[in-house]
Amino acid sequence: MTSGDKIRCDACPVMCYIAPGQTGACDRYANVEGRILRSDPVLLLSRTAERGGRIIPFASAGWKDTLAPVDAIITGIGAGTTYPDFKPAPFIVSSVVAGADMVTVVTEAIFSYCGVKVKIDTDRHLGPEGAIVRAEGQAIGHVTTAEYGSQMLSLGGVHHLTGGEKAEGRTTCASLLALCNGAAVPLEIEGGCSVIVQAGRPPVVDGRAEVRMRVGCGSATIGMFAAGWQGLVDEVVVVDDHITGVVSEHQAGRVIGWPPTGIRIKGHRSTPGRYFRVSEPGLGWGGTRLTDPLDILGPWNPAKGARAGLRLLMVSTTGEDFAYYVLDAALTPQPAPLPEALRATVDLIAENCETSLCTVLFMGGAGGSLRAGVTRNPVRLTRSVQAGETRLTSGGAECYIWPGGGITFMVDVTRLPPRAFGYVPTPALVAPLEFTLPRAAYLALGGHAAAIRALDEVQASGGEYVTSARLWPKEVE
Ligand code: SF4
Repeated sequence: MTSGDKIRCDACPVMCYIAPGQTGACDRYANVEGRILRSDPVLLLSRTAERGGRIIPFASAGWKDTLAPVDAIITGIGAGTTYPDFKPAPFIVSSVVAGADMVTVVTEAIFSYCGVKVKIDTDRHLGPEGAIVRAEGQAIGHVTTAEYGSQMLSLGGVHHLTGGEKAEGRTTCASLLALCNGAAVPLEIEGGCSVIVQAGRPPVVDGRAEVRMRVGCGSATIGMFAAGWQGLVDEVVVVDDHITGVVSEHQAGRVIGWPPTGIRIKGHRSTPGRYFRVSEPGLGWGGTRLTDPLDILGPWNPAKGARAGLRLLMVSTTGEDFAYYVLDAALTPQPAPLPEALRATVDLIAENCETSLCTVLFMGGAGGSLRAGVTRNPVRLTRSVQAGETRLTSGGAECYIWPGGGITFMVDVTRLPPRAFGYVPTPALVAPLEFTLPRAAYLALGGHAAAIRALDEVQASGGEYVTSARLWPKEVE
């Protein structure tokens, strides 16, 4: 369809008129000599393998001898979109894998219902559960649960993308796109911290790069290292915002015969040697507000073992914070240099900590109209995916499919090649999808039989807009 020299792109509801030599609003489609072309190359696994590019195992079971199958699978990256899906998907490609006739349907799906789940490896208190997360001042998500050594954020979702003001939707879309394509995104958490999130990189909390993910909670740390402390020190307190551990009282200490010390902890005792809420959450020791760990100790009890000369180690769950004390005649802890033998135990905690990282999982619902580009009977595709007959991948990366209704999937964005995600200004994200299944099953679920083409033919004539196939990465270098 044209308007003057312009051509209308109908790959999304924006329906841009694109002037010659220009791209549409999303930069994904261009008017090249009077034809609409997808502006990114289609990604072929075999070409990437030939050039020594990064390959991620795809449908890993069954391909044993080569990095990529000889009959290389095409990915959805750069494939184009057939919104609103009244026509077959851009590429429906036949191939032979391990002697089996297979079909792979690829498309770039438009997701208004999508977001990212972010896991930030840190004990530092980023903000209260439920707190609004902002980017450039706009609300784009919220803080969810604290997991074991990590804080989770939920960003995006249809309400932020389309349910608020335009600026909120635009900022949410831009933030999701940046996160999915591996860029660093500064976030502000109401009532909490600023944090820079980048998939596969350490988080930066209030300007400080996080280094270590905790070895475990305070109780777990006691369990792991109690035997190593025995004979070197009389008491160990592992300071942690969630569970602070005390070795002399803890089950691990009891089992190995650790004597009582008369220590008192200001906190809520859960079970012996395990204390909740010794402090408010914060950026101090073990995710507490503590800068002086002695603040959590009450008076020592001589009737239960406290004595002058008693040696005390206090340490955080990452080993980043530690202090050594000896009780004086008044049973007051006095700071003292850390003995070398004990330093080795602190170093062991640090050694057992993993590197703090941010993990970004894209989550979207692929159970909508895009299914019509795969089959004339969409619910059969849903059932086939749920039954494990059809394998869903995103840019060649394995997806986790949520049980229950629909095709709701999650994918680790670091498993996709660079720039795999796009957007349209509705606003919505665009993500590559591939549905791979046996040819017979594809036909049985009402697949577009007439649109099935061999890979060679696709390379020769391209996809929906009958372009010359543009093969990765020739045209982008
Ligand atoms: S925003 Fe992009 S996909 Fe949508 S009509 Fe414009 S050029 Fe086409």
